Order: sequence, then structure tokens, then C-alpha cells
Amino acid sequence: MTKNNSHSTTSATDLITRLSALHPDLAILGPDDLAGRHPGEHKRNFDAGVMAQPGSPEAAAALVSWCATHSVGIVPQGGLTGLVGGNVSRAGEVILSSQRLNRILSIEPEEMTATVEAGVTLEALQQALKPLGLSTGIDLGSRGSATIGGMISTNAGGILAFRNGVMRHQILGLEAVLPSGELFSDLTRVVKVSAGPDLKHLFIGGEGAFGFVTQAVLRLEPERPHRATAMIGVPDAMTALRVIRHFRGLPAVTLEAAEMMWPRYIRDHARLKNVELDWLEETASALLIEISAEDIDTAKLAIETGLETLWEPLGLQGGIIAQSLAQAARLWDLREDSGFYYAEIPDAASFDISLPPKFLDDYVSGLQARLKKIDPTYEAYVYGHIADGNLHLTLIKRGPLVETELRPVEEAVYTGITDAGGSFSAEHGVGLEKKFGYERFLSREKQALARTLKLALDPKGIFNRGKVPF
Ligand SMILES: Cc1cc2nc3c(=O)[nH]c(=O)nc-3n(C[C@H](O)[C@H](O)[C@H](O)COP(=O)(O)OP(=O)(O)OC[C@H]3O[C@@H](n4cnc5c(N)ncnc54)[C@H](O)[C@@H]3O)c2cc1C
Repeated sequence: MTKNNSHSTTSATDLITRLSALHPDLAILGPDDLAGRHPGEHKRNFDAGVMAQPGSPEAAAALVSWCATHSVGIVPQGGLTGLVGGNVSRAGEVILSSQRLNRILSIEPEEMTATVEAGVTLEALQQALKPLGLSTGIDLGSRGSATIGGMISTNAGGILAFRNGVMRHQILGLEAVLPSGELFSDLTRVVKVSAGPDLKHLFIGGEGAFGFVTQAVLRLEPERPHRATAMIGVPDAMTALRVIRHFRGLPAVTLEAAEMMWPRYIRDHARLKNVELDWLEETASALLIEISAEDIDTAKLAIETGLETLWEPLGLQGGIIAQSLAQAARLWDLREDSGFYYAEIPDAASFDISLPPKFLDDYVSGLQARLKKIDPTYEAYVYGHIADGNLHLTLIKRGPLVETELRPVEEAVYTGITDAGGSFSAEHGVGLEKKFGYERFLSREKQALARTLKLALDPKGIFNRGKVPF
């Protein structure tokens, strides 16, 4: 353990002794075990110094029940890829990790469902489904580490959300340990359930505030194996949306991805990675699209003919079709290695907003102007899941900003979003870092209802203390 005073080390030792006796299928790790592990996307994730790893829902329930009795705070953790500080833990708390809940329990190819434990990574499930011609219907750049339980808790979105919806739409049933230690089990495997309020939704997007997810049933989608990838120069988001509309309307092919990178992002990233962009006009944004079909020729032909048809009417500003899987991977890297800038601007302030897509162009130009008003040197990297109006924004300035610097930037980023029908947090959640947005831009009524539900389920406030919705 890197930082701990003697008081918290003593407490941690005491806690470990007590927790170790709770259940035979509960592994307990202490500061020394955690010292060599990567804490994930936030350096303070392991500050509690004590991690419980249940190997079964019952073992998780035993841990939670004990913590409830002794008012010990619990921080659920999955793959640690969360980007809003939802995993941050403190001395005296217990990290409840899903790492050992990592079994795929069943895959039903005919009904197109999978039942998994919460700690299964997205990629592990994708690999298991591939030979069956199936997909999770949801995909994230963090697929190698992000777990199904974590994705449920943040209501993750990602690349395919414009087509299949977000995690909420892929989850048919789930099981969770409630803050009382009881097991809420609703492993429904059907789409249609009209039997009162669908309470599983409390845990989807609940960011670990309402309990610990142990299992889930996912609906699956068919996977078309052959893919063609292209990057297209577009003058603005509206043009990108027209390109997307064209490809979504084609028979026999499926649009699998539509990701946009605004000029400063694509130029800086390509320079850093030594990728030649001579085919892209200087002021253009880059739209990455991927098309799937039953064979590769159909997929490629759809892109070629699409570009020919759209080139002049839409004023496209360049285009390149990947000629190999390696070239496609290089194009994808420009989008998915989205933290490329953190070496130069560590701890830069980042945001994740959504807007009805038709407002995107006005929003982006308005945002850059608002930032410049705060400080003429301010500019944001802009990129994201364009087809569903989800933008990721990073202030090109070394962080962390102190509160007096951060607030005006947050105001500039969030201005107009609620009125336009969007969200200050699209897919990453609230955690610790987006609390200002939550308190300032979510309706009072919604906040009050979330608090009422939290108090009813977790009166001692043991789950994810100090984070949303408190
Ligand atoms: C490179 C990169 C790309 C990304 N791309 C996307 C993207 O395209 N779309 C997107 O939506 N997100 C994206 N993310 C964010 C992140 O991957 C998601 O938020 C993901 O859902 C987190 O899953 P996890 O298992 O890592 O959860 P963690 O980070 O471990 O936890 C996230 C939150 O969920 C809670 N939690 C975790 N497991 C459980 C559980 N079993 N029960 C109850 N609560 C739990 C935690 O307390 C925390 O609040 C990206 C992150 C990175 C680093």
C-alpha cells in the first residue's frame, strides 16, 4: 500500500481478520496484496487498502450483511475502467470486487441470451459469442477490462448504442446483493415483463449506490462477421449524420460504427502516431464508419458506392477505405486510443455529454467560443459517438484544475444541454467528478426521488458513500 497512516493500517488489519472469517468463498486482500496492482483509471481507487473478492453471490451477501451491521462503507469495483471516480475508496471502507465472479453461466443461441456473473469482461463474453455468430450488441473501447457488472452500474453506451441502445436495453434480468445483505434475484430471460415496476432498472446506472450486482441476463444480437472500414472527411456533424443515414438505409449491410473526431483531435493524434492524413482536407473532421455484411465484397462495395453517391452532393472532404485488417486497426486506434493526450496534459478536465444530434454543430462552435471567453488559450478536443449525439470533450490544458478554474469550464460545457433535451452525463456516470453537473443540472424532483430510494434501501448509506445520489 502506498499511502496509509498507522491508524488506518491498524484498522485495515483488524478489518481483514474479521472479514476473513465470514464465508469460505470470500477472499480478502490487504494493503500488501493491493500494493502491486494497477488501481485502474483513478489513483485513489485502492485507498481503502482492503478488498473482498467473493466467489459466489452468497459470499458477497455475507460480506454486505456484516458491513451493514457494523456500518462499514462498501465500494463496489469491477474492471476499474470507470472515468468519473465512482471507484474511489477511503481508509475504513471495504472494496467489494467482482473479479472472482467471472463465469459465463449459460449461452442460449436460439433465444439469443447469455447469463453471466458480474465480473465477466465484455471481451470475454464477446469471444465466447463469436463462434456462435452472436454479439453482445454493445461495445466499448475498454472491452478488455470493463465488466458486465460495471457496465450495468454505469449504464454504459459505447459504439453500438445508436443501433441497439445502451446497457439498460440489453439487460433482461439481474441479481444483486441489497445493502441489507439480502439477495434481489430477478434473472428474467424474456423481453416482455409487465408485472409492476421493473425494479432491476434501479441498479442499471445506479453506480453501485443501491447494491452489488452479482449476475445478469443479457439479450444478444446477431453478428455479421465480415467488415469494411473507412474514414471520411466531413465539414460538420450534420454532414456526418447524412452519411450515417445513407448507410443505415442500405439493404444487406449493417452500419456497425460511426465515430467522429473533430479537426484538432484527429490532427494532433495522427501527428503523434505518425499517421499520414494527406487524403483529408485540412479543416475537415474525420468520420470513422464500419459496415458489416455476409461477405467482405458486399461490405466494401457498399462503402465504395456510398462514397461515390454522396461525394459531391454532401461535399465530402476526403475518404480512405481500409485495405487490410491492419489498416482498419490503425484507423480505429486513432479513435479508441482517446487518452493519447494525457501524457502531454495529465489530469486534463474531461466531459461526456449528449445532445439531440441536430444541435451538435451549434453546440461545438458555441462551446469553443465560451471556453475562449474564459481564457483565450482554452480549446477542447471533441470526438465521440456521433450517431447518438454523444460527445467526449477534453480541455487542452494540463490539470487538475482548481475549483475556481473548473466551475466556469463546467458551466461552459453544460450550458444549454438540458434545455436542448440532452444530458450532462451521457455514458460515464456521475461518481465523484460529475457531482456539480448532477446537482446543478438534474431536476430537483429527480434528485429528491433518488435520495428517497437510496434512504429506503440503504438507510446507513454504506454503498458508495459520498457519491451520487448523495
Ligand atoms: C479506454 C476507455 C474507453 C471507454 N469507452 C467507453 C464507451 O465507449 N462507452 C462507455 O459507456 N464507457 C466507456 N468507458 C468507461 C468505462 O469503461 C465504463 O464506465 C464501464 O462501464 C465501467 O466498467 P468497469 O467494470 O470497469 O466498472 P468500474 O470502473 O470498476 O466501476 C464503475 C462504477 O460501477 C460500480 N460497480 C462496478 N461493478 C459493480 C457491481 N458489480 N455492482 C455494483 N456496482 C458496481 C463502481 O462502484 C463504480 O461506481 C471507457 C473507459 C476507458 C478507459
